[in-house]
Amino acid sequence: AAIGLVLKAGQDLLGVAQSVLSNRVNYNGLLRVRCDLYRKLQALDLDYHRSRPQGDAIHRLSSDTFGFQAILGTVVATVVAVATFAAMAVVLGSRSPALTAIALSVAPPLAIANVVFGRRLKARSIECKERDAEFTSAVQQSIASVGLMQAFGREAHEFARFQGTVRETIRSWWRLNRQQMAYTLIIGMLFGAAGAAVFGYGGYLVYRDQFLRPRPGGMTVGDLMVFTSYLGMIWGPLCTLTGFAANAHGGAAGAERVFEVLDRNPAVADRLDAVPLPVRPRTLEFEHVGFEYPVAGPRASANAEGNSGPDEEDSSRGVLRDVSVRVRPGESVAFVGASGAGKSTLLNLIPRFYDPTAGTIRLDGVDARAVKVEDLRRHVALVLQDSALLPSTVAENIAYGRPGASREEVREAARMAGAAEFIERLPGGYACPVAEGGANLSGGQRQRLNIARALLTGAPIVVLDEPTSALDPHHEHFVTESLRGLKGARTVVIVSHRLSSVVHCDRIYVMDGGRIVEEGTHEQLVARRGLYHSMAALQMLPDAVAGHGGGQVRAA
Ligand code: ATP
Repeated sequence: AAIGLVLKAGQDLLGVAQSVLSNRVNYNGLLRVRCDLYRKLQALDLDYHRSRPQGDAIHRLSSDTFGFQAILGTVVATVVAVATFAAMAVVLGSRSPALTAIALSVAPPLAIANVVFGRRLKARSIECKERDAEFTSAVQQSIASVGLMQAFGREAHEFARFQGTVRETIRSWWRLNRQQMAYTLIIGMLFGAAGAAVFGYGGYLVYRDQFLRPRPGGMTVGDLMVFTSYLGMIWGPLCTLTGFAANAHGGAAGAERVFEVLDRNPAVADRLDAVPLPVRPRTLEFEHVGFEYPVAGPRASANAEGNSGPDEEDSSRGVLRDVSVRVRPGESVAFVGASGAGKSTLLNLIPRFYDPTAGTIRLDGVDARAVKVEDLRRHVALVLQDSALLPSTVAENIAYGRPGASREEVREAARMAGAAEFIERLPGGYACPVAEGGANLSGGQRQRLNIARALLTGAPIVVLDEPTSALDPHHEHFVTESLRGLKGARTVVIVSHRLSSVVHCDRIYVMDGGRIVEEGTHEQLVARRGLYHSMAALQMLPDAVAGHGGGQVRAA
């Protein structure tokens, strides 16, 4: 009774210690792994993110990171199992070495079963994780495009697709379950056989010592009962010890997917010898810049499906070719040209979302790849075509790039972007919450908030991709005038199909097929009667085409 009580109390105390320890290790580990993974995802280049569904990153962060918990839990349980196993082996061995040896004879086949099933279970678990990640992506994509689905009446099709994804997920879980069931069955049979052997041999010892050749101190029924009741206390830890591989399999599958990201080197990162670059106005220079997207990108494959113009069909050639441009501090330049000419790609190279595959981009003569990425990006205020708005207040969205900005600075940026008026009409004004993706704002309002956000950063180079595409003529004129007002103070690089937004620029570069084919002021380009002239003729009144400030004529 006393030994039993001590053992029970010891086992329970060890159990509590195990829980405390494993929870501590698990939660701290989860925190660390999630933070590391998030930082890595933040650092990975746009190409990585664009070539994978968002759901993949979500699944890795939310579910796969638990893999480490499972592994750490197994490690902690194994440490505790070693202690329990050693104590129980001594206790049982002192009662009956022969029966203990029989009880432990289960260990070798147990270990073999665990190695064999460990491998299979891991393979199946990886498959399950991948299917689960696809499922998360499918849900994320279909919910994000629910409006499109409803507008085109594709609910049935999308439902069938969704159902297919769920079926695939469940099929892979079934495959895993089958292996788990087979594993449980084999382990159960092994212990069943070992239990029978212990009982059989123990029964024989009792029969021998009590009836056949009675001897004092021989095995009694009571001894056998005590021994068998302790069996569970040695087999439990034994299972944990030999089952390390099988127990860790699920966790290992998740952990492998996490490591896949953690071990990845971002295509754009600080070089070891990267130099700091204090923020101030600098000459921006593109020197024979060429660029090609990596082949596996989704947009590249969309092009390969043949839905693009003739210029876009030849994927073997560069998106940008031999682009040389020099923009001095305070100048404003514009890039115009047909859709797919490479204008947005060129803008993406400035903050190093991608690195050029040929040539160099320089700031004051320093190769952009040689400076710290953070410093380089602090030189640039960006308004992209698909700039996101966050689910916080209007003021917080505007101040995103400069969180310490005063209320007056936020208001001034909004005023310059032509956003002040509509913001003041919103319920709560600057404190009005913006819905996810800016869903409670119009396209033009979102665009103006993005412009305000960029202007507020105070970065010396303002880069705008189609900043006025969603604006009415009145607001387009307003924004254009604000950008004009930046002349001399900030460098403005703008891409626009609306020539009225760029007529005032110091230089306009016309792009075609990744090359700059014309350059000059609006008047010079109109007079040249080339590509720019035909674009201007399509967009503007004939007298404006003649070069009398088309922007103002159109806006008026
Ligand atoms: P638009 O005026 O329509 O915005 P653009 O001149 O800005 O067009 P880009 O967006 O730079 O053109 O695209 C240039 C080419 O590069 C296109 O053929 C496009 O399909 C391709 N492209 C753009 N982004 C990617 C990407 N992430 N992966 C692969 N190809 C891309």
